[in-house]
Amino acid sequence: MSESLRVNRDSSEVAVIGGGLVGLAVALGIQQQGQQVTVYDEGDIAFRASRGNFGLVWVQGKGDNMPAYARLSRRSSHLWGEMAQQLEQHTGIDIQLQQRGGVFVCLTETELEQRIQMLNGMAANHPEGYPFEVLDRQQLKELMPDIGPTIPGATWGPEDGHVNPLYLLRALVQRFEALGGKLVNAGPITKIKPENGQFVLQSASGRYSCNKLVLAAGLGNKALAPMVGMDAHVFPNRGQVLIAERVKHFLDYPTGHVRQTAEGTVQCGDSKEDVGFDSGTSTDVLAQIANRAITMYPLLKDVRLIRSWGALRIMTPDGNPIYQQSEQYPGAYLVTCHSGVTLAAAHAGPIADWIATGQADPELELEKFDGRRFEL
Ligand SMILES: Cc1cc2nc3c(=O)[nH]c(=O)nc-3n(C[C@H](O)[C@H](O)[C@H](O)COP(=O)(O)OP(=O)(O)OC[C@H]3O[C@@H](n4cnc5c(N)ncnc54)[C@H](O)[C@@H]3O)c2cc1C
Repeated sequence: MSESLRVNRDSSEVAVIGGGLVGLAVALGIQQQGQQVTVYDEGDIAFRASRGNFGLVWVQGKGDNMPAYARLSRRSSHLWGEMAQQLEQHTGIDIQLQQRGGVFVCLTETELEQRIQMLNGMAANHPEGYPFEVLDRQQLKELMPDIGPTIPGATWGPEDGHVNPLYLLRALVQRFEALGGKLVNAGPITKIKPENGQFVLQSASGRYSCNKLVLAAGLGNKALAPMVGMDAHVFPNRGQVLIAERVKHFLDYPTGHVRQTAEGTVQCGDSKEDVGFDSGTSTDVLAQIANRAITMYPLLKDVRLIRSWGALRIMTPDGNPIYQQSEQYPGAYLVTCHSGVTLAAAHAGPIADWIATGQADPELELEKFDGRRFEL
């Protein structure tokens, strides 16, 4: 029997490898266009940033080295409200989106000056305008009465917000499946074979074929992309996160390092560590995170910590996303980023539209996100 005849019955119009926030958002967007999508996910033992993140829908400062990414982040933030409303309406899951603005609290004058300089640089690169404000200590205290006495100021982004990322993931799965999408926990896909204009995927549990393929496997993309003629320049970067017990409501806005969840717990983060594939935690880094949080909000010094974890970000050399169609094997796409919560609405919207139709909205400036920029 020839290899192609042994492909099992599971054949789909579009296959997405990776059932994290990126894969599911893209899969939902394509499924909404009426194309039959199957998501193949490795399962519980995989590295899964989507289950360990901070939950910010964050715009300020994103794309300071790539204006197209800054515009994409803003566009996603604008699309977020509609996506959340649709998800909540159809699944009944309250994903707890709040988009009333966000604050980046600076601990020292130097940190504040550097941040203002960075955001001013961004504003200069965006003739369409780049929204942010600088808050002095008094203005910050009016916004956050519990702010610590040594904090000199902060920056404010009106388009920032936060969400419950686990409810988001659950709502994406539920909506995707309700529309007829299939989620298969197939173990890792270990081989992809382009064959007669199709792609044949192989895992320990079977072989699957598809007409179009999206690689959204996070750190797993590194091994998969060369199988369809691309390189995924991704590497892990660890972030550790602390959760404190529920306390009375004290924080109306998320910040870059501390946010109060809808349930009242306090999430504190997050480190940026180059430790390879180690997703554990370390006492020294957790202590730094806790100290920063207490400096920002002294009331936290008496609050008990209930949980901590480490998770691996999916980084690229310039920190910006990769969106690319394989030149060698058209129909195979690579989608990866390090802010999959923020970009979820863009992934379910214009990025999914590009993959579904083959036509990219020129305003996306997709050529800037091509992964071959790292080979230059
Ligand atoms: C500490 C921390 C804080 C963060 N905070 C934020 C934040 O506040 N806001 C924000 O926007 N982003 C944040 N992020 C980033 C965000 O979590 C990620 O961008 C996002 O989760 C990436 O989603 P993903 O689907 O690409 O990857 P993952 O969640 O890693 O999912 C990849 C999936 O691919 C599957 N897979 C891998 N290899 C294979 C294979 N060979 N075959 C089949 N399946 C495979 C895995 O099973 C996995 O489910 C944070 C990340 C971390 C670590």
